Amino acid sequence: MPEEVMEEAETFAFQAEIAQLMSLIINTFYSNKEIFLREIISNSSDALDKIRYESLTDPSKLDNGNDLFIKLVPNKNDRTLTIIDSGIGMTKADLVNNLGTIAKSGTKAFMEALQAGADISMIGQFGVGFYSTYLVADRVVVTSKHSDDEQYTWESAAGGSFTIRPDKNNPLQRGTRITLYLKEDQTEYLEERRIKEVVKKHSQFIGYPIKLLVEKERDKQVPDDDEEEEEGAEKKGEDKKDMPKVEDIGEDTDADKDVEKAKKFKTVKEKYTDDEELNKTKPLWTRNPDDISQEEYGEFYRSLTNDWEDHLAIKHFSVEGQLEFRALLFVPRRAPFDLFENRKQKNKIKLYVRRVFIMDNCEELIPEYLNFITGVVDSEDLPLNISREMLQQNKILKVIRKNLVKKAMELFEELVDEKDSFKKFYDNFSKNIKLGIHEDSTNRKKLAELLRFYTSASGDEMCSLKEYISRMKENQKQIYYITGDNKDAVANSAFVERVKKGGFEVIYMIDPIDEYCIQQLKEFDGKQLVSVTKEGLELPEDEDSKKKFEEQKQKLENLCKVMKDILDKRVEKVVVSNRLVTSPCCIVTSQYGWTANMERIMKAQALRDTSTMGYMAAKKHLEINPDHSIIETLRQKADADKNDKSVKDLVMLLFETSLLASGFNLEDPGIHAARIYRMISLGLGIDDEELIALPDDVAGSALDDMPPLEGDEEDASRMEEVD
Ligand code: ADP
Ligand code: MG
Repeated sequence: MPEEVMEEAETFAFQAEIAQLMSLIINTFYSNKEIFLREIISNSSDALDKIRYESLTDPSKLDNGNDLFIKLVPNKNDRTLTIIDSGIGMTKADLVNNLGTIAKSGTKAFMEALQAGADISMIGQFGVGFYSTYLVADRVVVTSKHSDDEQYTWESAAGGSFTIRPDKNNPLQRGTRITLYLKEDQTEYLEERRIKEVVKKHSQFIGYPIKLLVEKERDKQVPDDDEEEEEGAEKKGEDKKDMPKVEDIGEDTDADKDVEKAKKFKTVKEKYTDDEELNKTKPLWTRNPDDISQEEYGEFYRSLTNDWEDHLAIKHFSVEGQLEFRALLFVPRRAPFDLFENRKQKNKIKLYVRRVFIMDNCEELIPEYLNFITGVVDSEDLPLNISREMLQQNKILKVIRKNLVKKAMELFEELVDEKDSFKKFYDNFSKNIKLGIHEDSTNRKKLAELLRFYTSASGDEMCSLKEYISRMKENQKQIYYITGDNKDAVANSAFVERVKKGGFEVIYMIDPIDEYCIQQLKEFDGKQLVSVTKEGLELPEDEDSKKKFEEQKQKLENLCKVMKDILDKRVEKVVVSNRLVTSPCCIVTSQYGWTANMERIMKAQALRDTSTMGYMAAKKHLEINPDHSIIETLRQKADADKNDKSVKDLVMLLFETSLLASGFNLEDPGIHAARIYRMISLGLGIDDEELIALPDDVAGSALDDMPPLEGDEEDASRMEEVD
């Protein structure tokens, strides 16, 4: 053996959070340490996937006779467990970046999850599985060879730093060798039985052979006249039974000859090592669903996803005919921690072609809103050397995609009947369903059936649109809803008052994404969905009340005009309302503009495109309650003298207050406050205007400084400001 050449090592500090995570892993008492092996094997499998994928476009990459494997080598003498793979390997830069210096969002998220009671075995889901090696090892050495670089070795005994050095010893053709120097009390992972058990439990569905180096014994014939025993061999009795078997007994004379020959040999036991393949299971999806147990599906799902729990629901199917493929689709129990955070994260469906893994995250396989579904698709028709570019226009893939979406819809539909599972599903993935309603017009109807909302009549349970319809009054033609921040706020809003009083049910849409969803969901089962906060809300009414309303409208015509003049551009119009009961007025928005809730959401998102802000910003209508005494008194004042100063002030105050009550934000709360203080002073009989620090007549000049609420560009840029 050549002398070990130790070259100069460079030392690096772990990124702060990673160092923190490592010491947490080392110091936390945790018994289920075996999962480290699953993580290492899963990384090897990923690395093998990568080289296989590269070889599809450049077959020469696999030419060097180095087949795709994972090998486990326990060494009791050194107390090491070594995992070798012939995957893509890591360059020096990869080692530095991937194993320690680049911050990952999952590091912090995982530590937070742990604090919240999560289990260490969840580590793989957070993208920091490698560090689980420190559950069992106090020193880890990673040697890797990537085709773009020399061989390098990474090494760390934790403690905040690692080293990297060029390494010419024991050259790898390509791939990675990870040696774990096991802690004193972790020698169980050197035992053949234990390793086999762990691999079977966590990694049996890995798509590459996992070989374990095992020690075996075999009989060996040694010449009898040889006095010296072979090293390590045991001496055996020289019974005739131990004679070598004569395979082909021909004529007697020959046989006699053989026996004669055999007398000169004896049998000894010889130790040798051999590779034993641990995962010979057939790919699960190729088997008949009737022969697969729920446990097997669960194990497969866990090995596919690194999830620590079983899936919530599954669909295993095959499509035959013009095109042939098999697929397994899983719905997980939880949304991943970064479901909507990371735009890069596509889907988790693995594409295979005739049992050969082609790629993860094939965008063309499933629409974005279904990216929480995990699974496997195995096509019989696609070419093996398909590249990502080719996939984009591939017709076969389009058909596969259509089928996957169809099956996903079936899967969801089946879930509806399992109440607990469906609830879990909805809690985790309702955002995806709503996004789907917005994006996928083909399946909009099916997806809408999955929607669940609280309503004014649903109590603590959510209900479906179908249930709502089943409760609709005979004369009710539309489905009423309100969007807002939370259940209490919408339940107590002025808009809901009247609708509820008329005995109608109102759906509470309190998830920000509901606003997007409802933009596309105009109707359900032939019934129009109508916002109670938008203009044009018409509740079914009898002739008498219609007539009465017409009279009230006429009576208040002048007041509406006076109010519109005072409010000017702040509102589009002032109209008499038939939706209010106890509030004097409310702000409604036009049919096609944003609701107050949407305006709030959009402002919070600091929408960069000012133009949208301009024309989409809620177009406000002030609706006044003809039955309210405040309105009646105002009417009398306005009819008597339309220039009455107190009318001006009161109208502004009413407007600002109803803005707040309807869920809008005030542009300048200070002015509103000043106005309230003045009213309080008046109420207290303090008539000295200087006492109340109002610079000018507030109803006049000070408010005129407020930008108009809509219309010109100046307005648009102001609207953009984040509250
Ligand atoms: P994840 O696998 O979720 O990315 P890990 O902490 O398990 O997170 O691994 C970190 C990174 O280290 C991997 O993304 C990969 O780039 C690299 N890596 C780990 N093991 C190997 C390996 N056997 N071959 C090549 N790269 C590896
Ligand atoms: Mg990993």
